[in-house]
Amino acid sequence: MNQQREILAAWALPISGPPVKNAVIRLIGHTILEVGHSTKVSQADQNVVVLPGLVNAHTHLEFSDLATPIGRSRGSFAQWVTEVIQYRLLQDKLADRQQRKDSAIDQGISESFAHGVKLIGEIATRPWNSPAYHNDNVKILVQLEQLGFAANQAEERFAEIEAARTKMTKVLKDVGLSPHAPYSVSPQLLAKMMNSAVETDSVVSMHLAESKDEMQFVETRSGPFAELLQRLNLLGPDWHVANIDFCLRQLCECWRGLVIHANYLSERQMDFLASFKNLSVVYCPRTHDYFGHREFPLTGLIERGIRIAVGTDSRASNPDLDLLEELRTIRRVFKHLSHGEILQLGTSAGAQALGLDDNYGSFEAGKSPGVLAVEFFEPVHEDPESALLTKPIKRRFWLD
Ligand SMILES: [Zn+2]
Repeated sequence: MNQQREILAAWALPISGPPVKNAVIRLIGHTILEVGHSTKVSQADQNVVVLPGLVNAHTHLEFSDLATPIGRSRGSFAQWVTEVIQYRLLQDKLADRQQRKDSAIDQGISESFAHGVKLIGEIATRPWNSPAYHNDNVKILVQLEQLGFAANQAEERFAEIEAARTKMTKVLKDVGLSPHAPYSVSPQLLAKMMNSAVETDSVVSMHLAESKDEMQFVETRSGPFAELLQRLNLLGPDWHVANIDFCLRQLCECWRGLVIHANYLSERQMDFLASFKNLSVVYCPRTHDYFGHREFPLTGLIERGIRIAVGTDSRASNPDLDLLEELRTIRRVFKHLSHGEILQLGTSAGAQALGLDDNYGSFEAGKSPGVLAVEFFEPVHEDPESALLTKPIKRRFWLD
């Protein structure tokens, strides 16, 4: 039987409340009972700050074996997408393709866990399933991505992904969907996937308003993405684009909808987002920087009360999967944001965005969010939130 245990630290950050100095966290198994003050915190514990496991709300684990991102920093976005397609085609030719993919996913989960991540919003690609998703350390909320711009293929593509989802749901319980992006999914396929997600109360992520190239495509049906689809022979005689408004209207019907990136949303579209509490935006700071997009509209989103979660995106556009480094990047870029607010984005907001805040993202009784310890080289006498976002870290480890 699980015994009650106590974890002592100079500071505990419950996230759901203010930091607790000289803290004790009482648990049974992995489940939090309470966080309180203790007189037993020793000198040895003074360098340690504990907090709930971090939440990476958006990544693609299959790229986790890449040593460096694909393409070049600040290059054309459509060119990067082209290079990702080429990379995938090359991978698909390998005889041990699936083993390599499974091992990359596994590698990404291990890397995330070592960096303090307890919950991952993952985008999975064909054939979608992987044994690596069954992980004891990290909860992976898998969302099945589908592409298909040819409208006459919508039925077939939809049937294919539904069959995979039915199979995977039996084992993984909650499996979401991800119609990739307006330049890769026809409105017909998008609507079918969204309807299915609404019927099953599933989480849906969609890359939306990410780049100038995408905006040109949805607004004028021209530009680098139209040329790419033309080259791939995917534009039939009467093709349509799912514009941003259409995608937002579809997403808001879902139980939980994640707008991935949202770099180029208009003021009006942000107003629309604000009226749906089931919708969240996911900001991937270092990936944002890799592409050199215009400044992320963080202030406008926060002013409207729109939930912002944080993701690493994948190693195809980021050097690693270190979520804390994403939060440190936010601190450097948006200096007016309080450090407590930034830490919320990488914990409770991510868990809420993925619909898993009943268990993750904060130290509250009954949750099992993981107890992450961050050890510094020096004692943390004050402001543990700033320490997490600015001070050199000696090591991170799990205490539960
Ligand atoms: Zn992505």
